[in-house]
Amino acid sequence: MKIMNMMPSCREITEQASDYLNQDLSPWQRAAFRMHLLMCVYCRRHVKHLGLTVATLGKIASEEKARENDDIQQIIALIKRQQKESPEQKGGD
Ligand SMILES: [Zn+2]
Repeated sequence: MKIMNMMPSCREITEQASDYLNQDLSPWQRAAFRMHLLMCVYCRRHVKHLGLTVATLGKIASEEKARENDDIQQIIALIKRQQKESPEQKGGD
């Protein structure tokens, strides 16, 4: 059967897993990928696990970015407040 030639190997699935999750595969590759997953528990687990990892990493990254932004906003607010509270104080006390 020719269709077996089109079926990616476990190794190819592992290599393509992140592309699959990023939706970077062609429709044909996706179809073959899914077909393999249907028949292979090992790759199904691998892709599921990778998907969870990617989702978690993405979440952490966006949360960190949000926190970073928050910090910057706070620092800017602090500087602005200090500028308001002490306008043009010429050193010394
Ligand atoms: Zn497999």
